[in-house]
Amino acid sequence: MEGDTLREECGVFGILGHEDGAALTALGLHALQHRGQEAAGIVSFDGQQFHSERTMGLVGDHYTNPATLAKLPGAAAMGHVRYSTTGETVLRNVQPLFAELEVGGIAIAHNGNLTNGLTLRRHLIATGAICQSTSDTEVVLHLIARSQKKDSAERFVDALSHVEGAYSMVALTRTKLIGARDPNGIRPLVLGDLDGKPIFASETCALDIIGAKFVRDVESGEVIVCEVQSDGSISVRSFKPFEQKRERLCLFEYVYFARPDSIVGGRSVYTARKRMGINLAKESPLEADVVVPVPDGGTPAALGFSQESGIPFEYGIIRNHYVGRTFIEPTQHIRALGVRLKHSANREQINGKRVVLVDDSIVRGTTSLKIVQMIREAGAKEVHMRVASPMITHSDYYGIDTPDPEKLLANQYPNLEAMRQYIGVDSLEFLSIDGLYDAVGGSPRNNEAPQFTDHYFTGNYPTALTDLSGADRNDRNKLSLLKEAG
Ligand code: AMP
Repeated sequence: MEGDTLREECGVFGILGHEDGAALTALGLHALQHRGQEAAGIVSFDGQQFHSERTMGLVGDHYTNPATLAKLPGAAAMGHVRYSTTGETVLRNVQPLFAELEVGGIAIAHNGNLTNGLTLRRHLIATGAICQSTSDTEVVLHLIARSQKKDSAERFVDALSHVEGAYSMVALTRTKLIGARDPNGIRPLVLGDLDGKPIFASETCALDIIGAKFVRDVESGEVIVCEVQSDGSISVRSFKPFEQKRERLCLFEYVYFARPDSIVGGRSVYTARKRMGINLAKESPLEADVVVPVPDGGTPAALGFSQESGIPFEYGIIRNHYVGRTFIEPTQHIRALGVRLKHSANREQINGKRVVLVDDSIVRGTTSLKIVQMIREAGAKEVHMRVASPMITHSDYYGIDTPDPEKLLANQYPNLEAMRQYIGVDSLEFLSIDGLYDAVGGSPRNNEAPQFTDHYFTGNYPTALTDLSGADRNDRNKLSLLKEAG
């Protein structure tokens, strides 16, 4: 197993006061499945008791079973989809995590990654905490347990005031559903409404699937507490308990992570991706016969590239949808094998043509290398690669699965020309950072105060990286082992 295991690609969902709580949560999680495919969990509360189901695998494989849903009764429910490390230890890490505390039961689910989670964990263990998982989220649960505040929502806020990094979190208590977003708003979280009942979800696509209304984004640093009142009505209160910071949503949500039909931060992800392709075509024009997306991530950008350049768009690569995401297979070997399982050339559209391949991003370069080889074998006369985001030169520590810096393609080769030769293309170009900012509707990047977090392209991290300080800084292997060991 590779060491770069600090991955928390996740999606969260919660609903309060609806009789079909667990079924709606299962549907919401199904729409968020792209955010994590390894495990899923749902916790419900029936007015008396909490119920919890956590499993490995896809939402649809488990939570569509009526017998499973029958084990999750109640009008309050929340859930989580997750990609995590492999191995036997996984199930105990699957969220929502639940604990009985002095203030009653509480379940929490987290999308994002804390950058001081390990430091806090060490402190908690040194002072007597018994940790059952290796997940950052458990740290938050311990901090809630230790808080001296009276009320569960106050304790939740108190706990969050100690953590650094990225979190969009949902918590469920006996009477409350709480949604919170970190002060930088790195990961998305939206507030929705179904028949007057509040919902939290990572993306709007989880509202669309159940016909719920989008109310608004949870703001950066905001905590929204939805509470069942004694007359059965539900109050929704907003708090800004943390030091106010400028919102810096993660640009990678637009580049790759979010579903194209979601509206993230008020912007259509699909439109942003298409504009990335338009800007790429403006910045790096060329003569070619056909624009071919690397599916599915590259498809909207390839459409934009085709429209702007006038070069016809064709599905020159067909993707098998029954293979999980290549990128998140655990070993390099399987990852490489996965690419072949996942993509095949549509020879008719490639043979004898000058092909422009458009992908959303290059991380390790594994996908590009295999795809280019495949397109050449299918008879392409020329193969050009256009990437709808800038070069990734820095690791992410906030919930996007990127490897150690030295495994990033852009760090393995000294310049664009060397990368071009390695991938084996006739030309290779990346979208500029300003082209990306323009595509998401931002003004040109302000170096002093960037409107988004773009650390993977620039090294400008929005928070302290406490866990990576000192001896651990350049040793993510060691860090992930420590996390595994707890
Ligand atoms: P790589 O093969 O390592 O260069 O990864 C790049 C490919 O993986 C591209 O085709 C992207 O669409 C996809 N990708 C980029 N970021 C991620 C991510 N965080 N999780 C899964 N796949 C990704």
